[in-house]
Amino acid sequence: MAAANKLFNSVNPSSIQQKQIKGYFISHAHLDHTAGLIMNSPNDNAKNLYGLASVLDVFKKNYFTWSAWANFGNEGEGPILNKYKYQTLVPKKEIAIDNTDLFVTPFVLSHVQPYESTAFLVRHQNSYLLYLGDTGADKVEQSEQLAALWKAIAPLVMNKQLKGIFIEVSFDNSIPEKALFGHLTPKLLMEEMGKLNQLTNGNLKNTPLFVTHIKPCDGCEIKIKSEIKKENQIGLNIFYPSQASLIELK
Ligand SMILES: [Zn+2]
Ligand SMILES: [Zn+2]
Repeated sequence: MAAANKLFNSVNPSSIQQKQIKGYFISHAHLDHTAGLIMNSPNDNAKNLYGLASVLDVFKKNYFTWSAWANFGNEGEGPILNKYKYQTLVPKKEIAIDNTDLFVTPFVLSHVQPYESTAFLVRHQNSYLLYLGDTGADKVEQSEQLAALWKAIAPLVMNKQLKGIFIEVSFDNSIPEKALFGHLTPKLLMEEMGKLNQLTNGNLKNTPLFVTHIKPCDGCEIKIKSEIKKENQIGLNIFYPSQASLIELK
């Protein structure tokens, strides 16, 4: 696998937003994931917002209201501006994404019980990408959501159909489990990857792993990257994507 980065520097962000982005997958409603969408909504054109019912409810009740902003949704407090159409996803059920050749299957993640986050398994023909929103580790969350996800995607890893996994690591290993608030550390990431690697008979190194969501703090990025390197005893191919750079997968 090779990942090459190309910058989108020369492209107008407004034209990307209006012409190239055909819809949004909302993993969960936390503001570090949704503020950009909300604040740039006046400039956007009509498209769908895809999410689980519990996630879209936050937009309907809290964000796209006239006290917080303006109601750009197609439901909720009037007047309704009808720019974004809510498309409620059902866990483990694949649907087609309007105006694209893509399909998506959502999986529920645990992001501090009882709050739900989402993993999106995106399909184009016979190839897949997996993006996980914020998630805690099963053992910390007292959950089996990641175990269920790993079981579902293991055959795609073994058949080399899964072209990449995007997963979060928010904090370094020094943060105690009770202070993680539904996030992963390098150690917890590698524990979960160890389980997935076992389910795929040791084939996970064929699937590149893109680590996202490192919380900004002084020296954290360097520390997290070095801890991941140290914990990566199964030899996974790990990358750190950066905003506005194109990732090419083979
Ligand atoms: Zn979150
Ligand atoms: Zn977050």
